[in-house]
Amino acid sequence: MILSYVYKLRPSGSQSAKMDLWLNMLRSHYNWCLSDRIQTYHQQFLQGDYCHLRSKAEACPLTCCVVKNGATGNPWQNSGKKRNAGTIQDAALVELKAARPWYKSIDSDVLQRNLARLNIAYQNFFNGRGFPAFKNRSNFRSFEYKPKGVKLMGNKVYLPKIGWMRFFNSRSIPDGFAAKSVTIRKKTDGWFMSVRLEDQSVPKLLALPISKIKTAIGLDLGLSKLVHCSDGSDIANPRFATNKTTKRLLKIRQRRLSRTKRGSRNRKKQAVRIASLHGQIANRRNAYQWFVAHKVVKKADAVVVEDLNIRGMSKRCQPKPEAGTGRFLPNGAAAKRGLNRSILDASWGNLIAKIEYVAEKSRKVLLKVNPRHTSVTCSACGFVDKTSRVRERFICSNCGHFDHADKQAARNIKHKAVVEYGLNLIKVRRDSAKPKQLELFETPSAELTAPQRRQSDALLGNRRVPGNLGRQLNLFSQDISDIPPVESPFF
Ligand SMILES: [Zn+2]
Repeated sequence: MILSYVYKLRPSGSQSAKMDLWLNMLRSHYNWCLSDRIQTYHQQFLQGDYCHLRSKAEACPLTCCVVKNGATGNPWQNSGKKRNAGTIQDAALVELKAARPWYKSIDSDVLQRNLARLNIAYQNFFNGRGFPAFKNRSNFRSFEYKPKGVKLMGNKVYLPKIGWMRFFNSRSIPDGFAAKSVTIRKKTDGWFMSVRLEDQSVPKLLALPISKIKTAIGLDLGLSKLVHCSDGSDIANPRFATNKTTKRLLKIRQRRLSRTKRGSRNRKKQAVRIASLHGQIANRRNAYQWFVAHKVVKKADAVVVEDLNIRGMSKRCQPKPEAGTGRFLPNGAAAKRGLNRSILDASWGNLIAKIEYVAEKSRKVLLKVNPRHTSVTCSACGFVDKTSRVRERFICSNCGHFDHADKQAARNIKHKAVVEYGLNLIKVRRDSAKPKQLELFETPSAELTAPQRRQSDALLGNRRVPGNLGRQLNLFSQDISDIPPVESPFF
C-alpha cells in the first residue's frame, strides 16, 4: 500500500542556502543533458565535415559527442544490453564530477534521480506527450533522494550531504511503513518534503471488483456548484481564484508589480507577494478538494464521473476573419476567457485525481463514463433532445419530466455507468414517502423572514431545500405545475 505525505521542513540558514545552490547546479545539469541529447540526435543527420551544429567546428574524436555515444564509443553494456542515452549519461556522472569538482557536494543519488527525471520526460514524450523542456528557476524547484540514505527520527530528518534537519511532524507515519522516495521541494513559503510511504506487508489494495459494487453515485462537475450528486445533494464551488475579492486583490498586486522598475528590489518584493497569494489560493483549493473527495467517496461504493477533456473545454476561441478586409469579427473571446479561468479555477482534473486516491484508499472505485449527451438526455424516459435543456432547467420535450438540469445529468451519469460497466446495484430505500421533487414547488410563505422560515422548518422537522433551487424552479412552476412528476426508472 502506498501513501504520500507532505511535511514542511525547518532548515537552518546554511542548509537552505545549500539546497538553493543544489537546485541551481541540478538545473544546469538537467539542461546540459537535455541539450546533449538533442545535439546527439541531430548529429546523426550531418552531411558536412563538422560535428558541432552551431559553430560548425570540425569533427574531432576527442570533443565530438557523436563519437562518445555511438559509432566508435562502446555501445554495449557488460551485460550485453545496448547502452541508451540514459545509461550513457549516467556513466558520465563520474566525468562530470572530475571536471566540475563542486558537483561532488551533491549526493550521488540525487544526481542520478535528476537524470532519471530527464529519462521520464523523454519517456512521456515517446508516449505522446510534449517534448522535454529546458528548465528555468521557476519550473525547476525540486530534487529527489533515494530512500535508503534518508532517516526519519521524531521531528528530525537526516538528508545525506545536508545533515539532520528539523521538520513539522504534522502527521505521524503509520507503523510498518517505510519511505519509498523523498522529494524536497521549494515553494514560496519555504521548503517541503514529500514522502512516498510503502508498507510491503500490506498487499497493494485491489480495486473493488465490479461485481461487488452495491451502490454508486454519479457526479456532475460544474461551475455554479462544484459537484451535483445523483442523490440530489450538491457541493458549493467557492471559486478560490475567481471570486470578486481575490480577483480584485490580484489585479491590484499585479498592477503594482507592473509599475515597479525592472530588476529593482521592489519588483522582487512585489513578485514574492503575488506568488504567496497564488500559493495561498492553491492551498485553500487543495484543502477544500480533499474535503469534497472524502465527502463524496463516503456516499457509495463506486463514484462515477464524466471523462472530461478539460484542455479542450478551456481552449481559446478561434479568430473569425472578416472576408476581404483583413480585419476580425468579434468572436466572444473576452467572455470565453473569463469562463476558461473559472474552469481552471474549479480544477476538476485535480478533484477527480483526489477522489480516485481517496476511493482507492477506502477500497472503493472511481468509474469514468463518456460525457456524450449526459446533459441533454431525459433521466426519466431516456429521450435525447437539445431543446429540453434551457440553462439550469430541464423539461423533457417527450415525457414532460422536469428537474434541475445538472442534477438529472448526474443521474444520467450514474445510469451510464450501470449500463457501460454492467453494475448490479441494490435498491436503496428512500425514507421520505412523498417524492422529493414535490418539495421543490412548495413556495416559501412570503410573510416570514429567512431566519424565521428556517426556524419553522426546523420545528416542523422539514429539511430545507439546499441552495437556491426552490427559487430557480419557481420561475416557471406556474405553467407546468399541472403535469404530474414522473418517477425515474433509474432512481
Ligand atoms: Zn423524458
